[in-house]
Amino acid sequence: MAQKSSTKDKYSILLPTYNERENLPLIIWLLVKSFTESGYDYEVIVIDDGSPDGTLEIAQQLQDIYGKDKIVLKPRAKKLGLGTAYIHGIKHATGNFIIIMDADLSHHPKFIPEFIKTQQENDYDVVSGTRYRGTGGVYGWDFKRKLISRGANYVTQILLRPGASDLTGSFRLYKKDVLHKLIDACVSKGYVFQMEMIIRARQLNYTIGEVPITFVDRVYGESKLGGNEIIGFVKGLLTLFATT
Ligand code: UDP
Ligand code: MG
Repeated sequence: MAQKSSTKDKYSILLPTYNERENLPLIIWLLVKSFTESGYDYEVIVIDDGSPDGTLEIAQQLQDIYGKDKIVLKPRAKKLGLGTAYIHGIKHATGNFIIIMDADLSHHPKFIPEFIKTQQENDYDVVSGTRYRGTGGVYGWDFKRKLISRGANYVTQILLRPGASDLTGSFRLYKKDVLHKLIDACVSKGYVFQMEMIIRARQLNYTIGEVPITFVDRVYGESKLGGNEIIGFVKGLLTLFATT
């Protein structure tokens, strides 16, 4: 059923990709389907990090299928990381709302109408997907990965009292002007960026809504979370703890 939206509202979806050639066609198809059904105006901005697997060529083919107004390509020459991918993507976004999600199908587009509804009901500045409340959950992770994620959330909850239940998740909706201000306020650029964004949002008194989501581990391709990211997260957390 087509939903009514404010005629001016437009959603820019930022999709950072690094070696996602198997996942990209399906995630884009699901996004196009979801937005076509809900009737909201949208664009998908693919920010490819110089993937050696030919993700960009796949993205170009998808652009030919769905149109240049719907699929926008803003690639970068090399792997510059997630934090800077969002900064790069938002520069080119024409929507007044920004949706950030992973391209590996861990974040299902079926939750997006719920994000939009939650945002509209309370005029939230940020709506954050949460795996740690209500019907939310994680599927397909081994014990070690679950422990790392839970542990990172738990320690951050204790140290920083952020007022959101999922700090390391990266499935979120932002008002564009709010996201600009948060990016300006954030110092970290790596994995810890997601967590810092929520902490800064609370500091700056932005309102945060939450939507329970199920996170399904990627089937194709490899996770980029490694020891370096974990060390970066702990450093970032301690820096935030010391400075906020
Ligand atoms: N990604 C990226 N640049 C990087 C690392 C990751 O664009 O340097 C993308 C990746 O393709 C995916 C998202 O960021 O769409 C999340 O990465 P990943 O799935 O590896 O992280 P995980 O889900 O394991 O935490
Ligand atoms: Mg992933």
